[in-house]
Amino acid sequence: MAREIDVPTRDSERFRAVLSHERFEEFQRGALEARELLAGRAVWNVNSTARGGGVVELLRPLLGYARGVGVDARWAVIDGNPEFYDITKRIHNRLHEFEGDGGPLDERARRIYEETLAENLAAFAQRVRPGDVVILHDPQPAGMAPGLRPVTAALIWRCHVGVDEPGDFARETWSFLRPYVRHADVCVFSRDTFAWDGLDRDRIATIRPTIDVFTPKNDELSTETVLRVLRASTLVADGTAEPVTFCRQDGTPGRVERRAQLIEDEPLRAETPIVVQVSRWDALKDPVGVIRGFAEHVPAETGAHLVCAGPSVDAVADDPEGPRTLEDAVAARSHLPAAVRRRIHLATLPMDDIDENAVIVNALQRHARIVVQKSLAEGFGLTVAEAMWKGRPVIASAVGGIEEQIVHGESGVLLDDPRDLGGFGRAITELLADRERAERIGNGARERVRDQFLSVRSLLDYLAVIRRIFAARSGGG
Ligand code: UDP
Repeated sequence: MAREIDVPTRDSERFRAVLSHERFEEFQRGALEARELLAGRAVWNVNSTARGGGVVELLRPLLGYARGVGVDARWAVIDGNPEFYDITKRIHNRLHEFEGDGGPLDERARRIYEETLAENLAAFAQRVRPGDVVILHDPQPAGMAPGLRPVTAALIWRCHVGVDEPGDFARETWSFLRPYVRHADVCVFSRDTFAWDGLDRDRIATIRPTIDVFTPKNDELSTETVLRVLRASTLVADGTAEPVTFCRQDGTPGRVERRAQLIEDEPLRAETPIVVQVSRWDALKDPVGVIRGFAEHVPAETGAHLVCAGPSVDAVADDPEGPRTLEDAVAARSHLPAAVRRRIHLATLPMDDIDENAVIVNALQRHARIVVQKSLAEGFGLTVAEAMWKGRPVIASAVGGIEEQIVHGESGVLLDDPRDLGGFGRAITELLADRERAERIGNGARERVRDQFLSVRSLLDYLAVIRRIFAARSGGG
């Protein structure tokens, strides 16, 4: 039942070095206002996992920087049994207009959902004081909204998933969730087009996600360190692995000690150009399509290999589909002719130490000649922004939040049809052949993230939403 996660404070002074003078000043003014507006209140964030996935990636820095400027930002994680997570995964898939496991969202599902959240609410509500702000993230804790509304000064439902063209699955799921989320003062979506029909316009806001660039995931790494990290985790195995240290989120030194699990015919060599997709093992990230598209449409003459990497599957508690999706990827690879199969490496990355996992992802993204994200649906797609910040040319599906991030041809390459494996393979092959274009796109990508997708912007956006709610409530709204 709801437990609190410790969030280390982060110092936002470091943004001075990456932001323009005007942007940094704007942030400082926002920080001052936040301190005053939120004095004596906690800002609770509630989600369903402390490890794995984009919401965790978003929350940790936002709460850390908020704490750094003097806001009492907190993080609570709800708990549920496998049945609850089957239902919430079904909801997640359907909000993306996919059927998922095919199970119903009926009265029984509602009962399990509500009972689980009633237990969590009972534990959580004891910690919330009048005057606090609560932000519920995603569908998993949304059912706590009715119980929280009377005991909060502002209640936000933050939906990180969505679909541009909703169909029956999404609409059925909106109906399932609407009785809960209508109790929120404001529902926040990642994209204007994700906002649901039937929600009051003045109770909707859009906040585009952002990344933290001062973390093991995104810190600058020298080429030498990149290779050391890849060798230590055995992703590259062409020499002796030497010890490698990195800077943890709390500033202390960490060491890469654990190995990735690799499904490959022979080890990757440092000089081999690689195309990389990093994702949870989720069918909507389409690892099987990535493997087939690469195998069938990226010729061996390119010399490129594919690395599909994701977390070790026992680690992500709220995602029951992980092991099956990984099995599907392993099977798709194993059915390939040997000559093609040897160019494809599947990697599950150790998750015991999230900072270690992050630095491995960082090194892999930096080492990639091209990063791909061939998702069939995507709320935002943090992996895209992460790779863009590293100056990598990204080839990604023009779906959901990815379209917000990439300006086609300038800061990445968008694929109109995520199921067009030939188009996917051609885009990779062309970009591998044109290093100058790849570099230009990579530079454009970094600038776009600097301008639009750094954590400080999200903090100002949340502040604006909270300010709006306080004004509405004090005016009787
Ligand atoms: N990620 C990670 N380790 C892994 C695989 C993924 O840290 O082994 C991170 C990835 O770098 C990104 C997040 O998980 O920060 C995934 O977020 P995204 O928005 O791309 O997709 P989501 O998982 O939320 O659908």
